[in-house]
Amino acid sequence: MNFELSQEQQMIYEYGSKLAETYDRKYWMEKAEKREFTREMWEQVGTDGFLGLMVDEKYGGAGLGMMEMALLMEGMANEGIPLLMLVVGPTMSMAHLSSHGTEEQKQKYLPDCCAGTKQFCFAITEPNAGSNTMKITTVAKPDGDRFKLSGTKTFITGADVADYALVVARTTPFDQVQKKTDGFTLFIVDLKKKGIEKHPIDMSIPIPEMQWTLFFDEVDVGPEDVIGEVDKGFSILFDSLNPERIILASMCNGVGRFALDKAVAYASERTVFDAPIGSYQGVQHPLAIAKTEIELAALMTRKAAWAFDNGLPAGDASNMAKYASAEAAINAVDSAVQAHGGNGFTKEYGIFDLYPLVRLLRTAPLNREVILSYIATYVLGLPRSY
Ligand SMILES: Cc1cc2nc3c(=O)[nH]c(=O)nc-3n(C[C@H](O)[C@H](O)[C@H](O)COP(=O)(O)OP(=O)(O)OC[C@H]3O[C@@H](n4cnc5c(N)ncnc54)[C@H](O)[C@@H]3O)c2cc1C
Repeated sequence: MNFELSQEQQMIYEYGSKLAETYDRKYWMEKAEKREFTREMWEQVGTDGFLGLMVDEKYGGAGLGMMEMALLMEGMANEGIPLLMLVVGPTMSMAHLSSHGTEEQKQKYLPDCCAGTKQFCFAITEPNAGSNTMKITTVAKPDGDRFKLSGTKTFITGADVADYALVVARTTPFDQVQKKTDGFTLFIVDLKKKGIEKHPIDMSIPIPEMQWTLFFDEVDVGPEDVIGEVDKGFSILFDSLNPERIILASMCNGVGRFALDKAVAYASERTVFDAPIGSYQGVQHPLAIAKTEIELAALMTRKAAWAFDNGLPAGDASNMAKYASAEAAINAVDSAVQAHGGNGFTKEYGIFDLYPLVRLLRTAPLNREVILSYIATYVLGLPRSY
């Protein structure tokens, strides 16, 4: 068994630290506080060729896989500069298009998205459906050989900076389908189209990406906008479940390490009795536990990415990685806050600022309970709870 990264993977992993020479945590935080997207940084990542890691080379990508995308995210998060847009755009939307889009769709959308000049957001959540995707009511009604899309999506990350949304809608009502996963279709929707309104959601969490509620009122979409087959969108969505978990786990692993690095630097210097506080076991042990949890979670994350890229069942490892990484990151940030004493709560040290993001990742986009239910049912074999 070889745990080493290839030279190319190592370079991708280290890219975050190069990027942080220009776009560091201070830049990220300033953008986050203004709720302003890190446009320059995004375009730089595109210019450097990293947005299309999972896209075929023919369309401007690198033709690599989930492992490389996870390494990119983890490397950026190690520096405290992770982006949710990397999840909803390059990992979910662009990867779907690359593997399920038509030749025309790929040529039309992917090169600009790989370059960072166009962007996708991803819209599945609805106010009345939440974690239960089966209950979504956004509908695309047939209208001649086209469709009229109507409904509401909420918590859509980056809908203001995105040019397109990948929208999950019902094309056949629930009571007319044979299988409960039938009847859903994935549409590429140009967000400038007539009939679309967006309202910002005032969030308490400082991140550069804003969340939006999108209202669709009889928006015209056609067969050229459908990814895959009409009514069969769920089979494509299944492909994105594990990547979503893996990329979010990578984000947590990196942010946890970033917090611990800061805590170690602080605790090694800060002296209030006779020796640096980092020499006391009461300070060391929580940090050592958090470090161990992060590295264990990171190993499971890589296993999940490896399984996904090799076409092996990746659900068990992806769910366990997402659970373990979010919990490890929360504990790492909490331990780092404690090691900083009062300074853990100051803007100057920026430690408490890390908490909302890692705490978010216990709840969304995928909550801890749904993940644990998966593990209980599919890994342990317990009866289904819902
Ligand atoms: C910052 C942020 C960004 C987001 N970005 C996007 C995006 O880009 N696109 C998008 O489509 N969505 C996005 N979401 C939405 C996110 O995916 C949803 O918040 C999530 O799916 C949960 O839905 P809900 O908020 O309605 O919670 P609910 O479904 O109402 O769940 C509330 C709580 O109930 C519990 N719960 C729910 N179901 C179960 C169960 N079966 N068993 C046990 N406990 C359960 C969990 O603790 C859960 O936290 C984002 C959300 C946030 C906060």
